[in-house]
Amino acid sequence: MGSRVMTQQRQPMPERPADERVRDFDEVPIGYTAEMAVAEAQRCLQCKRPMCVEGCPVKVKIPQFVELIAQGRFSEAARKIKQTNAFPAICGRVCPQEGQCELTCVLGRRGEPVAIGRLERFAADWERAHDEVEAPAHPAPTGHSIGVVGSGPGGLACAADLAMWGHDVTVYELFHAPGGVLRYGIPRFRLPRAVLNAELDYLSKLGVTIRTNFVVGRTATIDELLQEHDAIFVATGAGLPRFLGIPGENLLGVYSANEFLTRVNLMRADRFPEYDTPVHCGDNVIVVGAGNVAMDAARTARRLGAENVTVVYRRTRGEMPARVEEIEHAEQEDVRMHFLLSPIELRGDDDGWARVAVCRRMELGEPDETGRRRPVPVEGSEFELPCDTVIVAVGSRAHPLVPDTTPDLDVSRRGYVAIDDSGATSKPGVFAGGDIVTGSATVIEAMGAGRRAAESIHRSLTGQEPPNGNGG
Ligand SMILES: Cc1cc2nc3c(=O)[nH]c(=O)nc-3n(C[C@H](O)[C@H](O)[C@H](O)COP(=O)(O)OP(=O)(O)OC[C@H]3O[C@@H](n4cnc5c(N)ncnc54)[C@H](O)[C@@H]3O)c2cc1C
Ligand code: SF4
Repeated sequence: MGSRVMTQQRQPMPERPADERVRDFDEVPIGYTAEMAVAEAQRCLQCKRPMCVEGCPVKVKIPQFVELIAQGRFSEAARKIKQTNAFPAICGRVCPQEGQCELTCVLGRRGEPVAIGRLERFAADWERAHDEVEAPAHPAPTGHSIGVVGSGPGGLACAADLAMWGHDVTVYELFHAPGGVLRYGIPRFRLPRAVLNAELDYLSKLGVTIRTNFVVGRTATIDELLQEHDAIFVATGAGLPRFLGIPGENLLGVYSANEFLTRVNLMRADRFPEYDTPVHCGDNVIVVGAGNVAMDAARTARRLGAENVTVVYRRTRGEMPARVEEIEHAEQEDVRMHFLLSPIELRGDDDGWARVAVCRRMELGEPDETGRRRPVPVEGSEFELPCDTVIVAVGSRAHPLVPDTTPDLDVSRRGYVAIDDSGATSKPGVFAGGDIVTGSATVIEAMGAGRRAAESIHRSLTGQEPPNGNGG
């Protein structure tokens, strides 16, 4: 380790007060000032063997970029991050750092780890705010063409690396706007669209073409795309929602979280009345599930005007999969948590709208195959909760369209695309990565998969190792 001694506490993140922020969709954390960023960066010990990097799925050069911030060289810090992660303003906001780089930071053993995510966000925001974003120099074209299916973080990261190495890249996206979950899932109050658009702009400066409203499997099949491209990367995500399978789930006012968030984020219900596409939630909203998706849906419902938003979860607080920060933000915004509870039936009014959720209490039994204690129903404990809207956020599955229209693409029993260590699928020239391979995971894991596949594609097309371009 270097000679620095930790002298101060971790800098807290300034945030907007809860009663103000539930009235709009603007971002909740305000971000570090330059003084705060320098003070936080100076806490870093500049370890010779930086454990933080071990915890990062894309191996961001953490001590180096943190040191540049400590020296006040903010835009250089952003460029250092971009050597291994093309989208630092996104990752600085949505990565679960507490389970990755900050979990392994040595300062965490005796106190609080360096706030790596907040510093990443600061550097990227500074570079953008000061118009200092530079597209790296373009290498000579290789003459190879690659198609990327899906414009979520996996597809975008793969496209960025391949473009940096001189390949001609086209991204195909079924929605009318690119970004995947970053656009239609994660709400604006966690990831402002200006940030996402700026990162996409960086991609177009790299020369990547994005074709929206292009449904692979309908507009063209993978086999047809292979006639235009030398290789294909499939990153279509896991956007097909799971449901509870209980009576009444087809009543009006019952949404999957995916549909609810897509309506708000993509069809602009978050900008009503500016856009005439409102989503009416009524006063009583029940959100079933306890992951990040459930927290996003609950906090979105509050912002759409719901008075009583209740998260119903069949296990306890300790088992909630959502990030601690998201749970805290939800509770500050008056989202109520009901633990050890499971809806068993939804009942509607004469017009077919959901009005009552019949719930049953649960208790924790023996551990299941995941190691978590299994929720067991308490017989005779049923009671009713009033509802106007029910949002089901209990996980997602792979969309079958690409596998169904690509006969020689092997998939797992649960419909996820099978790959080898290099990211190659069973079909020659076709690679895959992100949620369509792993099931629902994280933004940075999808990006890591995209980057690994980009390396494999580059090797398979050129027979050479990738240059130290966007990758480092
Ligand atoms: C509401 C929500 C909140 C989340 N919050 C976080 C968070 O805070 N932090 C975090 O790390 N992770 C979070 N996640 C998980 C994370 O967003 C995903 O793991 C990640 O986006 C997966 O990236 P991907 O590129 O594999 O797929 P996706 O982001 O799902 O992108 C897939 C893209 O492919 C497109 N597509 C699908 N089929 C086709 C087709 N046939 N033709 C053309 N295009 C197609 C889709 O429209 C989509 O744009 C969240 C997920 C959700 C749903
Ligand atoms: S961020 Fe933590 S682990 Fe990484 S170099 Fe600094 S003190 Fe060491």
